[in-house]
Amino acid sequence: MDIQKIKKIETVQDMVQERAKWQDRGLKVALVPTMGYFHEGHLALMRRARELADRVVVSLFVNPAQFGPSEDLDRYPRDLEKDMALAEKVGVDCIFTPEPREMYPNGYQTWIDVIEITSGLCGRSRPGHFRGVATVVAKLFNIIRPHLAIFGKKDFQQLKVIEQMVRDLNFQVDIIGHEIVREPDGLAMSSRNTYLSAQERKTALILYESLELAQKLVASGTTAASDIIAEIKRHIVSHPKTRIDYIFLGDPDTLSECSVVGKETLLALAVWVGNTRLIDNTILYREIS
Ligand code: AMP
Repeated sequence: MDIQKIKKIETVQDMVQERAKWQDRGLKVALVPTMGYFHEGHLALMRRARELADRVVVSLFVNPAQFGPSEDLDRYPRDLEKDMALAEKVGVDCIFTPEPREMYPNGYQTWIDVIEITSGLCGRSRPGHFRGVATVVAKLFNIIRPHLAIFGKKDFQQLKVIEQMVRDLNFQVDIIGHEIVREPDGLAMSSRNTYLSAQERKTALILYESLELAQKLVASGTTAASDIIAEIKRHIVSHPKTRIDYIFLGDPDTLSECSVVGKETLLALAVWVGNTRLIDNTILYREIS
């Protein structure tokens, strides 16, 4: 297979111009928004985009607006050259990688707040995070005007926030959720996994083990959310250097908490392993006749 050379675009104006060329030819455009430091999870989203569209744009922007003051913006891992090579291999047409100044020039003052769906889970522990996410994604949609955009279910709440924003603000873009890509032992892939020491990497399996534990509990008839949460807590705190941010059981569409597991219930977790905050989730299925 011939590999087309990937294009690096750094300014809004150049991106808009490139997009206009495709408009004239009636090409279908897909966007995969990312913060870079690609792993197989990112690449799976790009491959899906490649299947669904004529042109694939990957945005690579470590968005300062979605990091809190004490978070890891400065040490977030970056390797643009390697990312470009990986994206080129899976057939991405261009990487849009603006500087923060390009996205938030002096005098910038417009923000998007998706309210209810951001009130719990990561929204509670990372105030302002989803405001930054929604705003940058809205900007990317306006600059790139994709027909479709792909987001990973790894960041389940983020996917829901974007779907809500698209509905509320009438963005003409199809949002596609992609299944979570995992390491062979079950750990959800994440750029932040690179922060983990060898011992922490082992401990990090508690997230996946918690999802499995919950699935087993539900299969064997445990349905009270409090019982499932108590079992997960017990499992997690039995490991040193861990701290639970949240364990959530609730409706996958509204993200409202539930007290009893229903037919389809979202289980989402955020756990600190050492100094690294990890998230994971799954849908618990229960047969209800
Ligand atoms: P990030 O660079 O971490 O902001 O992620 C960019 C996109 O890739 C988001 O839509 C994430 O949900 C998605 N993503 C990250 N890790 C995974 C994974 N392990 N499986 C599926 N999608 C993922």
